[in-house]
Amino acid sequence: MPKFLKKSLIILASLFLLYFIGTRLTARIVDEKFNRVALAAPYHYSEKTTALYYNLPFVADLHSDVLLWKRDITKRHSHGHEDIPRMIEANVALQAFTIVSKTPKNMNFEHNDDKTDNITTLMFGTGRPPTTWFSLKERALQQCKELYNFSKSSQGKLQVITNQQELKNYIEDRKLNKNQTAGYLGVEGMQVLEGDLTNVQVMYDAGIRMMAPTHFFDNKLGGSAHGMKKGGLTPFGEQVIKKMESLNMIVDLAHASPALIDDVLKLATRPVLVSHTGVKGTCNNLRNLSDAHIKGIAANGGLIGIAVFEAAVCGTNAAATAKAIKYTTNLVGVKHVGLGTDFDGAIPAHFDVTGFPLIVDELLKLGYSNADIAAIMGGNIRDFMLKNLPE
Ligand SMILES: [Zn+2]
Repeated sequence: MPKFLKKSLIILASLFLLYFIGTRLTARIVDEKFNRVALAAPYHYSEKTTALYYNLPFVADLHSDVLLWKRDITKRHSHGHEDIPRMIEANVALQAFTIVSKTPKNMNFEHNDDKTDNITTLMFGTGRPPTTWFSLKERALQQCKELYNFSKSSQGKLQVITNQQELKNYIEDRKLNKNQTAGYLGVEGMQVLEGDLTNVQVMYDAGIRMMAPTHFFDNKLGGSAHGMKKGGLTPFGEQVIKKMESLNMIVDLAHASPALIDDVLKLATRPVLVSHTGVKGTCNNLRNLSDAHIKGIAANGGLIGIAVFEAAVCGTNAAATAKAIKYTTNLVGVKHVGLGTDFDGAIPAHFDVTGFPLIVDELLKLGYSNADIAAIMGGNIRDFMLKNLPE
């Protein structure tokens, strides 16, 4: 081999090795920096709560962005909000794994355009395949693949649910073996379609069963609550919603502009949900639901997932989340409310997943019955999914 070629190969191999080590370090540093908790484990609650919580048949959560960070969720970590060991310890039966594809720099609740993006650097920095550096669709497909890979290497501890029958079988199986958990795939912002209607089917085929039209900026489907124009559903958006309904995919109205929520509620023939939100009644800001929208979603047979971070519930603890739950159930009844934590969504959460009993502690203080608590902590989500996933 000529000397210069040998030298070039050594340089190339060293660069590759440096990049590989760099991606490992970057993933860990970024993950730890963005996914903190207000209160660290272990958590303390009443004996009554312990007895009630760990006997709940089905604890579920409508929103976690954990797939974004390249965290190996088959292993237990001391940082971030969840992984499979902690989910099993916390008696979690079902988690929505939601995919983030693009977030603007200097992200805020008021006005964001689509001209900048943090996730390109994250994809490169965490060592994702080069296709994901340039394509939002590939970012979604990659995160789907990663969840299925976690499931494969979890030794039966994580199942990916894609239809009603799988969920039914899993519920039966979990009665005998609680050393397992499950999840389903969602998308936060349908810019992942890259403006092409046929990509709805591509997302479905990749296992995705829930999609939110917009995230932090207006896109081809319509307005975000945090966008520049905050408009309603576009003709393309209408086509997408109809296509999703034809496939029995679930529409998620989190981060949607008020006009877009109105338009979807008018158009929808199937129940919708809001995967992670607060309510204006206890925390009045642009990301949260108005009373009219809470009522509209309940009238549609929908579900509202209440979050566990300060910007959504105007407080840093379980009491603030319980207060938002109480406000919502007072308005529309217990059966339309569940948890939508936003775990690992670049937020400081009140606690990690093992802190879920703290919510039950607060719900007991507010006077809820055991049956109502079981519904709020996951029974409602189970019933919704048994009805609205594809058969
Ligand atoms: Zn979000």
